[in-house]
Amino acid sequence: MTIKTTKAFKSLKHSFLTLSLLSSFNILAQTQVIHAGTLLTVAGEKPLLKHSVVVKDGKIVNIHKGFVSVNKYGEDAALIDLSASFVMAGLMDSHVHLQGELGPKNDSQSLRMSAADVLMQSAFNAKKTLLAGFTTVRDLGASAEQIFALRDGIAKGWIEGPRIIAAGTSVSVTGGHGDVDGLSPDILEMRTSETVCDGPYDCRRATRRAIKFGADVIKITSTGGVLSDTNTGTGQQMADDELKEVVDTAHALGRKVASHAHAADGINAALRAGVDSIEHGSYANKESIKLFKKSGAYLVPTLMAGDTVVGLAKNTNFMSDAIKAKAIRVGADMTANFINSFKAGVKIAYGTDSGVSPHGNNGKEAVLMAQAGMKNSDILKSATVNAADLFGMSESLGTLEKDKIADIIAFDGNPLIDINELLAVAFVMKSGKVIKK
Ligand SMILES: [Zn+2]
Repeated sequence: MTIKTTKAFKSLKHSFLTLSLLSSFNILAQTQVIHAGTLLTVAGEKPLLKHSVVVKDGKIVNIHKGFVSVNKYGEDAALIDLSASFVMAGLMDSHVHLQGELGPKNDSQSLRMSAADVLMQSAFNAKKTLLAGFTTVRDLGASAEQIFALRDGIAKGWIEGPRIIAAGTSVSVTGGHGDVDGLSPDILEMRTSETVCDGPYDCRRATRRAIKFGADVIKITSTGGVLSDTNTGTGQQMADDELKEVVDTAHALGRKVASHAHAADGINAALRAGVDSIEHGSYANKESIKLFKKSGAYLVPTLMAGDTVVGLAKNTNFMSDAIKAKAIRVGADMTANFINSFKAGVKIAYGTDSGVSPHGNNGKEAVLMAQAGMKNSDILKSATVNAADLFGMSESLGTLEKDKIADIIAFDGNPLIDINELLAVAFVMKSGKVIKK
């Protein structure tokens, strides 16, 4: 699902300079020793008891059995006592939209808020996400210049937020999901993104353009979407030749492709074209499962999006009739289809579509996955090991091992026993810096 956003704004560097003066830089040279009561180094494997994780310069430099003495690491070494906690790698969300939040005021806000306002709001949402224990996210649909600035500002340490892999505007077809909709014609003209394309050559251009301006990943919309107000359904919208061209172009330039898809025809066409993940996958059928397994693509289920839009359709009045009908139908069908795919052996990467649901509540997806019938250890794996693999970052993230980036979180209870723990992360460290204690 894609959120409407305002056009990018040119001189945002001033805001960042001001912010950088306000933020205090942590000195990471100091060695930190974490005493972990229970330590899950690799989700999917058995947790270890009473171990120490040694962190220096933002990385894990060692993991020891037992609680080692801090003095061993010099006078200024610091102890982080998590001896009564469950410690694991930072969580990863494969599908967020940091720039907004679905709600009744979206249309009026999009007219009132400047691009700088939107960027400030995105920074606020990013911080909430990080505090919820999600240390890396993939933003799949936003105004390009703003989300790339947020990504880069966080990477430089100017502001705090999760590591962001960003798509910018999606590569979509005219009138399809991902194009602007539901506004007056002059505003539609004004806000049509440069990555809307028609035909394989134009979509090749759009893909190259997205990458030129900073896309880490290409987001496409192979089918209609629940939140587009065009009455065009949820079936295939990008043609086979367009899908193939986008995927080949993106892969040639070293980018993965994430395809939004609801109906089976569009899921299967995208998988045949070679996409790396299907987002939502609401109506995956037997053929889809075969194609998923053949290509090794991930399914990112976004059950929270389904859950949220059903609730909004039933309890609020701001959605058009076309959107309401789709929300109730698709939202209700997502869960059963997700669990069918999982049980058939499709690889799952955790993703919430936050922005449709409120930011900072990303852990709720785990609760919905568990309710659908997924085991807690598989859920934790989907949000660490699998997401890192999908992001192409397994070398540095997704598990707690020597030489990996020190993205470490902790819970008071054990999420392998009670998945609701994911709603209340107690400790967050990102790149060796303690964010929440
Ligand atoms: Zn989305």
